[in-house]
Amino acid sequence: MGLLDGKKALIFGVANDHSIAWGIARALHDQGAVVGFSSVESLLERRVRPLAESIGSTFVEPCDVQSDEQIAAVMAKWQAAHGRIDILVHALAFARKEDLEGAFVDTSREGFGLALDVSAYSLVALARAARPQFVPGSSVLTLTYYGAEKVVANYNVMGVAKAALEASVRYLAADLGPDGVRVNAISAGPVRTLAAAGIAGFKKLYGSFADTAPLRASITPEDVGKAAVYLASDLSSAVTGEIHHVDGGFNVLGVPLAD
Ligand code: NAP
Repeated sequence: MGLLDGKKALIFGVANDHSIAWGIARALHDQGAVVGFSSVESLLERRVRPLAESIGSTFVEPCDVQSDEQIAAVMAKWQAAHGRIDILVHALAFARKEDLEGAFVDTSREGFGLALDVSAYSLVALARAARPQFVPGSSVLTLTYYGAEKVVANYNVMGVAKAALEASVRYLAADLGPDGVRVNAISAGPVRTLAAAGIAGFKKLYGSFADTAPLRASITPEDVGKAAVYLASDLSSAVTGEIHHVDGGFNVLGVPLAD
């Protein structure tokens, strides 16, 4: 018997088999959830559909989250196919490459707007469009990073976007809570993915993480998937508006001891 038997999960943000969203998808599927996918069109046939098929999923729809029309189209197709959303996963972000290096003070107005729109506002847009299909017990989950809380070199505008995303989690939790819908974020430690590769100096950060984090190990999509099962399931029935760190304890450090 799985913790998510009978649950229906719609997941935004699979790019490939290294994606955090894919780690979450597998974990939800392993616990019995029916899983469907939405990603940007260019990734669908070559990357996402084969992964979806490997876990018996046929729901694979395109969506650029900057488009309200595309979001509405995905939700309408999901409604026709499944009728309700028990679990909504938002695992996507974007900023221009030039805004993920150098000085934050040089961020352009356009770059700032783009990062905030794709990486933070999209959670609000998805939650609103999904709302008619939520039921009491539904769970919304997004992905954030420590750069929202503290300055992380080169994370720059994405740190500001993640701060907006984390505040959005709290406001959405307050709005949707009376309907019995929970909204939480996982703040993941560095995971080697396509999006992470776009951040200047990520390799160095990733390389030293396991030497510093209290649990002395890198973070994997599987680690994030396991925490996602908790937040998506009845195990977290009274948990909402939270930023749950899955980072080997990195965020508790002030001045770490050198080994
Ligand atoms: P990923 O595999 O590259 O996934 C990011 C996804 O976002 C890609 O599929 C990307 O598509 C998609 N995306 C970008 N713009 C979009 C748009 N306008 N509409 C729809 N989808 C769009 O990277 P990931 O690391 O797993 O990222 C998932 C989430 O985890 C992100 O929110 C990220 O910030 C967060 N996170 C990552 C880490 C880490 O270290 N990797 C740590 C903490 C939190 P394209 O490839 O076409 O851009």
